[in-house]
Formats: sequence, C-alpha cells, structure tokens
Amino acid sequence: MTVNAREFDVIVIGAGPTGENVAARATKGGLSSVIVESELVGGECSYWACMPSKALLRPVTAVAEAKRVAGAREAVTGAIDVAAVFERRDRFTHNWEDSSQVDWLNGAHIDLVRGQGRLVGKKKVEVSSGDGTVALSARHAVVIATGSEPAVPPVPGLRAAKPWVPRDATSAKKVPPALVVLGGGVAGCELAQVFRALGSQVTIVEMATRLLVSHEPFVGDLLAEAMRAIGVDVRVGVAVKSAARSNGGGKVTLGLGEGAPVEADEVLVAAGRRPRTHDIGLEAVGLEPGNWLDVDDALAVKGVEGDWLYAVGDANGRALLTHQGKYQARICGDGIVARAKGNLDGSAWSKHQATADHVAVPGVVFTDPEVAAVGLSLAKATEDGLRVRAVDFKIGDVAGGSLYGDGYTGCARVVVDEDRRVLVGATFVGAGVSELLHSATVAVVGEVPLERLWHAVPSYPTISEVWLRLLEAYGL
Ligand SMILES: Cc1cc2nc3c(=O)[nH]c(=O)nc-3n(C[C@H](O)[C@H](O)[C@H](O)COP(=O)(O)OP(=O)(O)OC[C@H]3O[C@@H](n4cnc5c(N)ncnc54)[C@H](O)[C@@H]3O)c2cc1C
Repeated sequence: MTVNAREFDVIVIGAGPTGENVAARATKGGLSSVIVESELVGGECSYWACMPSKALLRPVTAVAEAKRVAGAREAVTGAIDVAAVFERRDRFTHNWEDSSQVDWLNGAHIDLVRGQGRLVGKKKVEVSSGDGTVALSARHAVVIATGSEPAVPPVPGLRAAKPWVPRDATSAKKVPPALVVLGGGVAGCELAQVFRALGSQVTIVEMATRLLVSHEPFVGDLLAEAMRAIGVDVRVGVAVKSAARSNGGGKVTLGLGEGAPVEADEVLVAAGRRPRTHDIGLEAVGLEPGNWLDVDDALAVKGVEGDWLYAVGDANGRALLTHQGKYQARICGDGIVARAKGNLDGSAWSKHQATADHVAVPGVVFTDPEVAAVGLSLAKATEDGLRVRAVDFKIGDVAGGSLYGDGYTGCARVVVDEDRRVLVGATFVGAGVSELLHSATVAVVGEVPLERLWHAVPSYPTISEVWLRLLEAYGL
C-alpha cells in the first residue's frame, strides 16, 4: 500500500559513507536529496567494518610496538584487557545506534527514509518498511550506494556449519578459544591478528601461495613471518575442501586439500565480497540483478539511457574501500549538480571524473606490521605494458626506523615508470608506515618527476627518510 509519495532532486539508496557523501555534495550544490536506508545510517564501515576492526586492532598494535622499545617493554607487563578492548570498540560503534549520524543528516538538510529501497522505473524508487511503502521520484538522479556483502565460497558443509562473517568477528562479545580464518586477504589478516592477541588459537587457511596476494610478494612474506612469530598457524597454498560442525553447535572441522584437518570453535569466512545489488530493482531498468554496477568516470551506470542512474562505493566494485568510495561520492555528487546546470566537465582529473580510481588507489592493512600501498605493483605495471623499474629499501636501515622500534623489520618499494620518470606505485611494510602512504599518493597522483621529488627533503630522523634512500638506490 502506498502511504506517501515524495519528489526530490536526488535519491540515494544506502546511507553508508558513500551514500552520505553523495547526498552531502548534492545538497551543498543546491539540490534537494533523500537517503534511503534499511539498516543503520553510517553503513557497514561505521558499525561492522572499518571502525570496529580498527578499534580492535589499535590496542594490539600499541602493545606490540611498546614491546619493541627497550625501557617501554618493561612497562608492559600484563595481558591485553579483553573487556576494555571490546568496550572501547563499542564506543566507536555507538553501541550500534545511529542517532548521531541521523543528527548529522538533519544538520546537512538531507532527508532520510528508512526501509528497503528498490528501483521501480526511470528515476523512481519505492521504499518498503513495516510502516508501508513510500514512493519516491527524482528530478535529476538516483544513486545506488548499497555496498557489498560477504561471499561465502561453495565449500560442502560450510553454510550449514554457521560460519562467522566479518560482521560476527567485529561485533564479537567473546573470544573463541580456537578460530580458523578462511581467507588471507585484508579482513582475514587483520581479524586473525586481533583474535590471536585477544587469546584465540588462530589458523589462517589461504588458497593462494601468499597472504595479501595482490600486493608486492614481500608483503605476504613479511606478514606471514610476523603472524607465525605471534603463534598464528599460517597455511598458504591450501584449499578448504569441506566443513562440518559437530552436533549441538560444537566444534567446526575443516577438511583441507593438504595436511591434517583443522578444528576450531568458530570459522571466520573472509573470502571476498559480492555486490549488494540483487534486491534493488535493477531488472526494472533493464540491468541484471546481483552484478557489480559498471560505471563510467562520472559514476554513471553504463547501459542506462539519459545519465540519471549512478553507483558509488562498493556497489560498483572499483575499489572496496571507504576513502575511495567517498572520493567517488564527492565526484558523483558534484557531477550531478554540474549536469543539472549543464556544465559537467568530462576531462580527466576534472572535479567530475574519478580518474584516480585507475591510477592511485591507496590502501592500508592495519596489521602489525602495517602494509600501505598505492598505485601499481611491479607485476601489475609490467602486465599493463609499462617499462618500469622497482627499487627496494629496508626501512630498518633508516635512522627513523631503528629509533621507532628495536630490530625494526620492514621494507619499502617504489615502482618507477622509466619512460616518464615518475612513480606509478609504492608499497611500505613495517610498523607505523600507514602515515607514510599519503606522501606516495601525492607523488603518484601529482606525477612528480623524480628529479623534483629529490628536492622533497624528509625530516631527520623519521621513517620518511626511506624516500631519500629509495631515490639514492634508484641512482639520483
Ligand atoms: C572487516 C572489514 C574492515 C574494513 N576496513 C576498512 C578500512 O579500514 N578502511 C577502508 O577504507 N575500508 C575498509 N573496509 C571496506 C569498507 O567497509 C567499505 O568499502 C565501505 O563500507 C563501503 O561503503 P559503501 O557506502 O559503499 O557501502 P556500505 O558501507 O556497505 O553501506 C551501504 C548501506 O546501504 C544500505 N542498503 C543496502 N541495500 C539497501 C537497500 N536496498 N535499501 C536501503 N538501504 C540499503 C546498507 O544497509 C548500508 O547501510 C572494510 C571492510 C570490512 C568487511
């Protein structure tokens, strides 16, 4: 039953970080906007992904770092206080309550309709909830910002074994005595370290030959070494073949392609994501439900006439990261305003084109050691046909690194495009490297020539001096 019909300039489906940002930019540009949300305003990132996982990791890395500094090490005598860690995490997730984000929407003059949003035609969305149905129509644009959800691989018995997905791990109230993590990607590695530090016996099973396999090869090797040093059983190049939970919610046993089966109290599936696009009415506008939404650089969905349907964030599959989705959202929101005024700038690197998606996506893995990378790995650059050269340097050999922690272990690599003499990629592994990453992102996005980068002098004695050593190693 339709109880309400309303018209806005822009309708955004999904109030995660990307949906909020599209609506904010559209509203700032003078358009009216409404957000449709079926769960909590703030999305996966605020309640089940980035914020809780980083809140859980921070005490773990803080303790690990203190233990690597003689003098400080002696002050760290007890175990991590698990209850305090969970309590701090709960503060960051506002106890899974979204009133502060709703206040933010109100302050930004963005309307909110709660319920499940579905496209029902061109520029038309229906929202259903326990209170009935709201029919929304858009004068200019509809933006899909519905995010992604965990993909559970088709391993026999796995679904029946009631596995954890990242949400269960990031909102956990108890630490399982034994945890097996299926997947050695970003979420799998981060959460494996959390639960190991909080007291679980942890096993990671990864099908690829390395952890974090899409990064430079030394990343997975250094991380596996660090994981093993804290007692994580890392099994790479091993596939999970079967899963079974013993009667009455007992232990889970995973049968592996190689080696003995693993038994644990919980199995965490962190084996990739799929788009949350299967129940949003894509078929009503001629698109296939359940797929990543293919977009152009203005974030307009390809194959839809008239440039009125957009997709930002995880839903378009370009980069499953909050900051990159928010970048797309700013581009998209500004672009919708510009299109409404007839002055969209379609040139690369304009304010209306998400050009950085193709060349400079930064990402941090908040493990100990941290991993921070932007742009292309050596393998990817070579595969793309670039004439490149990689230069490596051990961060422990930089004064700032050795001061940061005794026996500092870490490595940096830059990938240089030999034809243009600019950086196309950079990777850092080591404690405290996440804050180095933006310098590399600026260098890649700015296409700063190596000869000019030479004049960017890093302070002494900081870890950033690795920049100088890398350029010297290159031959400057
Ligand atoms: C464990 C974990 C840790 C992560 N850590 C980081 C990190 O540290 N840094 C980082 O950059 N990224 C991180 N990510 C990735 C990050 O969470 C996502 O990239 C980000 O949340 C995507 O934002 P989004 O707005 O596209 O989607 P989401 O945050 O998923 O928001 C989508 C919203 O849409 C709503 N919705 C969906 N369908 C409908 C519908 N039909 N009607 C109404 N509402 C709907 C959902 O309820 C949700 O609120 C992590 C992911 C995981 C799983």
